[in-house]
Amino acid sequence: MNAGAPRPRIWVSRPLFDDILARLREHFDVDVESEDRDWTRPQMAEKLRDKTGAILGVADPVDASVIAQTPLLRAVANRGVGYNNLDVAALAKAGIVATNTPGVLDETTADFAWALMLATARRVTEAERFLRAGQWKGMSFHIMLGGDVHGKTLGVLGMGRIGQAIARRAAGFRMPVIYHNRSRAAAGIEEDCKARYVDRDTLLREADFLVIAVPMTAETKHAIGAAELTLMKRDAYLINIARGGVVDDTALVAALKEKRIAGAGLDVFEHEPVVPDEMLALDNVVLTPHIGSASLATRRAMASLAVDNLIAALGYGPDAGRPPNVIGAR
Ligand code: NAP
Repeated sequence: MNAGAPRPRIWVSRPLFDDILARLREHFDVDVESEDRDWTRPQMAEKLRDKTGAILGVADPVDASVIAQTPLLRAVANRGVGYNNLDVAALAKAGIVATNTPGVLDETTADFAWALMLATARRVTEAERFLRAGQWKGMSFHIMLGGDVHGKTLGVLGMGRIGQAIARRAAGFRMPVIYHNRSRAAAGIEEDCKARYVDRDTLLREADFLVIAVPMTAETKHAIGAAELTLMKRDAYLINIARGGVVDDTALVAALKEKRIAGAGLDVFEHEPVVPDEMLALDNVVLTPHIGSASLATRRAMASLAVDNLIAALGYGPDAGRPPNVIGAR
């Protein structure tokens, strides 16, 4: 870069670890938000109007309406693997590089899927609420009777990086694994995960734990709705660690209320951060605030990778011009 040229201006839409932020400041003038908040498109356009690049959270939207007002923008780096906040086609058309953080969060997110499976089946959060409310009057043989996890059939919708990490953990619980993708995984992956490919309806019918790990796309929106929930076993559990909107929350509330499935463990919601009151009122659902990847080490790795991507995308650092995780590049 030209030594006399003004430094590019960068916007960091949410707080970032100080030491990781310092790496951005080596190259750029950085405008960083000190509090987490969700941004509207007009607010995004205002913040990005005079910026060359941005580090974004996965709820921060960039579409054609934003891009039309951000003439200097050259790169946006999501700090997450999902990128349904970005209009990838509009970004490509405008010549703006978009990046994400695949790979560094797989194991942590898989751990969390299992946390939800176990908590949901064994009623962990419901039992804690009961205890904290002073309702526990002594040992009872019949309280909080839940479902077993071991030996049950694990069904994975979306056997990608995270789906595979979830499936690999099933061996210790002696659980058969079935999965569905649009395309069958390579034989080596099936062997590694001890997983059997099935069609979508078989997955829905046979899974005792149906774990959703697909990206949010036009095709996966409401992939689990009333019809799919009806195919599930009455004693099955639905776990969603992917994205809200893949599951139709209204249909799910109805199924949970009517006990058409045994329960659900949800880390993501259709209208985050709003969770429907009817869902909050149910005991057969475990609810968490989109924390699937939220271990300290993994959130640091995600932040660091997003920074690597942005620095490289804007032509700086050892990978100048070759950001490691360009969305859409294969
Ligand atoms: P990935 O490696 O791209 O895997 C996605 C899988 O979904 C692929 O196997 C893909 O296979 C399958 N898939 C895509 N569209 C499908 C469809 N229409 N029907 C059936 N299967 C479909 O992605 P990943 O890294 O595992 O991440 C998955 C998602 O998890 C992310 O996009 C993100 O939204 C979410 N996530 C959430 C958290 C959290 O904090 N809760 C954390 C990390 C990630 P085919 O292409 O063959 O269909």
